[in-house]
Amino acid sequence: MLKELLEKQNAGTLKAKDRYEIPAQDMPAQDGTERRENMNEVALGYTETQARLEAMRCLQCRNAPCMEGCPVRIRIREFVTAIANGSFEEALAIIKENSLLPAVCGRVCPQEVQCQETCTVGKKFKDPEKSVSIGRLERYVADRFGKQGETPKVAPPTGKKVAIIGSGPGGIVVAADVRRAGHDVTVFEAFHKPGGVMIYGIPEFRLPKSIVQEEIDVLEKMGVKITCNFIVGRTRTIEQLMTEDGFDAVYVGVGAGLPKFMNIDGEQLVGVYSANEYLTRANLMKAYQFGKGSDTPIAVSKNVAVLGGGNVAMDAARMAVRLGAENVYLVYRRSEKEMPARIEEVHHAKEEGVQFRTLQNPQRILGDEKGNVVGAECLKYELGEPDDSGRRRPVPIKGSEFVIDVDTVIVAIGNGANPLIQQTTPGLEFNKWGNIVVDEKCKTSLQGVYAGGDIVLGAATVILAMGQGRIAAAAINQYLKD
Ligand SMILES: Cc1cc2nc3c(=O)[nH]c(=O)nc-3n(C[C@H](O)[C@H](O)[C@H](O)COP(=O)(O)OP(=O)(O)OC[C@H]3O[C@@H](n4cnc5c(N)ncnc54)[C@H](O)[C@@H]3O)c2cc1C
Ligand code: SF4
Repeated sequence: MLKELLEKQNAGTLKAKDRYEIPAQDMPAQDGTERRENMNEVALGYTETQARLEAMRCLQCRNAPCMEGCPVRIRIREFVTAIANGSFEEALAIIKENSLLPAVCGRVCPQEVQCQETCTVGKKFKDPEKSVSIGRLERYVADRFGKQGETPKVAPPTGKKVAIIGSGPGGIVVAADVRRAGHDVTVFEAFHKPGGVMIYGIPEFRLPKSIVQEEIDVLEKMGVKITCNFIVGRTRTIEQLMTEDGFDAVYVGVGAGLPKFMNIDGEQLVGVYSANEYLTRANLMKAYQFGKGSDTPIAVSKNVAVLGGGNVAMDAARMAVRLGAENVYLVYRRSEKEMPARIEEVHHAKEEGVQFRTLQNPQRILGDEKGNVVGAECLKYELGEPDDSGRRRPVPIKGSEFVIDVDTVIVAIGNGANPLIQQTTPGLEFNKWGNIVVDEKCKTSLQGVYAGGDIVLGAATVILAMGQGRIAAAAINQYLKD
C-alpha cells in the first residue's frame, strides 16, 4: 500500500480521497493479560511503514489547525510531511525547534485535547481518535533518531550563575537553554534522582525511565551540575542561594507535589495512600522489587479502590494491577465522558482489568479494630447542570449508600503546591492557591527570580511546563545579558 501511495505522491496524483482511505494505524502494544505481570512499556511504537502510512493520512492543510492546538506551536504539518517523505531526521529537527523532550511528549502529551483535537482528518471523521496520530509520529522519530544527536553547543562562559530548583520537565528545559547561553548552571533536586514527575510519578510502563535519564545525561554532558537530596527552603533558601552562594538568577520549577485528600472519615486508616506516595514508592523507590534489591515496601493488596479519574488515578490503578491486586476499582463521581485522563490510558486500564465504577464516590472509609481499611462506604451519583469547569456537576443520590470491600484506598483527586517555598521566601508573591504569580515572561515579584510549570499553573502537563521553561530561560538569558 505504501509503495502505491508513494508512486501517486511522486506523480502528483495523490488526492485527499486517497489519504482518507488510508486506515488509521494502530499502535502495537503488549498483550493486555501479559502486561499485568510486568512493568515494561505497554505501547511499543510504530514500524517505519506504519509511521509513513500514518503520516500520509495528513492532508497538509494550508492553515494547519493542528499547530494552533499545540501549546508550544510545533510545525506539525512540516514534520509530518517530512515523515511521509522518509526524511526522519529532518522531522526530528523540526520538532526540536520547539520541544526539547519529544520522546517524552510523544508518549505522555494529551494530544486528543490538543493538536489532534483540531486536526482536519479527525474533524472529517467526527472523531479525534481518527485524527492523524501526531504524538505517535513524534515518538517514532524521537525513538529512532533522538539518540544520535550531538550534545548541544555551549557558548563561552559568561561568569554568571543560575540555580534551577526542581528537575522536572520545566527545570530540564531551562537548564538546557540557559546553559547553552554559557551560564554556569546548577539544578537542585529534593529527591535522590532527577526527572521530577517523569521519574517519580509516571510509571515505567508508560514512560521508560531510561528515556528521561538520557535527557539528564545530555544536560550533564553540557556541563550542567545536578545536586540531588537538596531541598530549597530547608538545605538553603532562595535568599541564601542569591546573596551568599553567588547565584545571579533562579528558576523555581518545584511542581505541584502536595496531594489533596477527600477529608472524609477513615482517611487516616492503614491502607490509605495518596497516589503520589503509592507511585513514588513503586516508581522511584522500586517497591515492586522489595526484597530483591529494593528496601521500600508497599501494601500487598487484594482489593483496591482508586479514587479519581485523571492520569494520576489511571497510573495508580494500573500500578496496583501490576503489584498483584485481584480487583482494582476506579471510583469516579462523574461519568467516563468527563474523565480528564488521556483516552489511551483509559483504554489500557480497561484492557488490564481495572473495573470502572463511575458515578460513585466514597463518603467514608471503614476500618477494623486494628485500624486497617476493610471497605469504603460509597454513594451513587447522577449528573446535574455543568459547573465552572464546563463539565456536568455530580449530584449525590440520597439513600444510595453501599459498601465496597477493599483493603487499600488510593486517593488520586489532585495535587496542589507544596507551601515550603512560600514559607521561606519573603517577598515572593503567591496566589490564593499557593501558586507563584509570574508575568508573561515567567518573572516573579523578586528580582532575578523566575518560575514556571506546575508551581505556577497548578497541576498541569509536561508540555505546558516545558513551554513555560522555554519562556523563562529566554527571559533569564536576557536579564543576565542586560
Ligand atoms: C502520576 C502522574 C501522572 C501524570 N501524567 C501526565 C501525562 O500523562 N501527561 C502530561 O502531560 N502530564 C502528566 N502529569 C503532569 C506532569 O507530570 C506535570 O505537569 C509536570 O511534570 C510538571 O513539571 P514541572 O517541571 O513543573 O515539575 P515536576 O515534574 O513536578 O518536578 C518538580 C521537581 O521539583 C522537586 N522539588 C520540589 N520541591 C523542591 C524543593 N523545595 N527543592 C528542590 N527540589 C524540589 C521535586 O522533587 C520534583 O522532582 C502527571 C502527573 C502525575 C503526578
Ligand atoms: S490538521 Fe491534521 S491533516 Fe491538517 S496539517 Fe495538521 S495533522 Fe495534517
